[in-house]
Amino acid sequence: MWFLSNLKDLIGNSDELVFVSDRKNRNENVIAYLFPRAHHECCVWHMEKNLIQRYNNASSIFLFKRAARTYRTEEFERLMGQFRRTSARAYGYLERAGFPFWSRALFVGQWYNILTNNNAESLNSMLRHARSLPIMCLVEHIRHTMHKWFYERRASATAYSIVLSTMMENELRTTFEAGTRLRAHGLTNNLTRVGISNDTDIVDFSEKMCTCREFQLNCMPCVYITRAACLRGKSLYDLCSPYYTSEYWKGAYGEAIYPIQREVD
Ligand SMILES: [Zn+2]
Repeated sequence: MWFLSNLKDLIGNSDELVFVSDRKNRNENVIAYLFPRAHHECCVWHMEKNLIQRYNNASSIFLFKRAARTYRTEEFERLMGQFRRTSARAYGYLERAGFPFWSRALFVGQWYNILTNNNAESLNSMLRHARSLPIMCLVEHIRHTMHKWFYERRASATAYSIVLSTMMENELRTTFEAGTRLRAHGLTNNLTRVGISNDTDIVDFSEKMCTCREFQLNCMPCVYITRAACLRGKSLYDLCSPYYTSEYWKGAYGEAIYPIQREVD
């Protein structure tokens, strides 16, 4: 409660916020209390691990992975129908957890393609040895590590002058290349049909949507969007969330982390 209320003072309560947890902890009620507008999702990797531990059934694990990651609701329903036939007990477990809690297609809020709490896991393993230190040394160790990371990342982000961050720039290029294999036809002033033969999706730039839903959920162009943007002469960068830009990357590491001053009596 103490930690999260300090976090709230810094970042506020917004419906753009999403908490990703492994659900083992009791943070759920505290999050709902302090951040009533935020959304809460379950790390799909932890969910998968729980399924393996409890029901160890290879075909249901395979179906779960696909169902959790699909963007399309009809695809989700089809996969879950199969899942129920494979293991009714495991289906009951997922149903009790709540489908929107772990399914990308049903989740309400923006995931930005972050489906796991890997970041927290990495921090945990980084602190594995330091945890045995006395509390003040542990805090100092965390401060020193953050100081180093912020300095290094601020330096590489500042030296970088392309619109998107390195990772997102590469992702956009790969998506664009895959999109060049598709055909695009204008349907109306706003609607564009993109795909191959009968396997097509519809892009609507006025509503900022694509029927595959990847664009709406990741706030990053999908293959259909990149192809339609080509046809309509739209800039792909304008279709990416500002959070993916190198400006935001710089901003994230913009502030220095100072050492704690000596206590004065
Ligand atoms: Zn799409």
